[in-house]
Amino acid sequence: SQQSPSYFRVLMLGANGVGKTAITNQFMTSEYMGAYDTTIELYNDKTVSVLLDGEETTMEFLDFNDGEVPIEDLNIDAYVLAFSLTDQSTFQVARNIARRLRLDFGTDRTICLVGNKSDLVRKRQVTVDDAKRLATNYDCKYIEASVALNHNIDELLVGILKQIRLKLSLD
Ligand code: GDP
Repeated sequence: SQQSPSYFRVLMLGANGVGKTAITNQFMTSEYMGAYDTTIELYNDKTVSVLLDGEETTMEFLDFNDGEVPIEDLNIDAYVLAFSLTDQSTFQVARNIARRLRLDFGTDRTICLVGNKSDLVRKRQVTVDDAKRLATNYDCKYIEASVALNHNIDELLVGILKQIRLKLSLD
């Protein structure tokens, strides 16, 4: 039987200013004790170690910021596709990226669509329904998060890992 891999690489994608760097930095400060005895520990400046369901996994986060993203050259296991709930144009960018990823790579890689900045309630421009519809159309998981409030960031991290493991178990 195959041994399940214990090292995964996650690529941060999305328009400028949606919070990719902030989310990644928040991952690095996570310390989560969940219903499944989950723990997250800092490994280095972009890598965390997650203990979930008794199995330890190292997760590396790649954040290219403004640089060109060499998607084809990277051995990627999952994508975090972020947009800002306060900026409709970033939602369109996310839609285009999701379409591109599914066209180029099929559905075997996890995409977690993240509506960030949920704390800015009165500036909201993207509805939950629209975001969920996009996620359904492109086989993504959807979560709303706020780095500012540290809301759903640990859940996002653990959710990515759960999705990666689920896809591997279906292979
Ligand atoms: P990136 O270009 O996608 O890496 O975005 P950054 O991580 O640099 O964030 C852009 C700006 O949005 C910064 O000023 C962050 O402080 C701010 N920001 C990020 N996440 C949140 C959030 O959840 N709520 C609020 N209010 N601001 C946020």
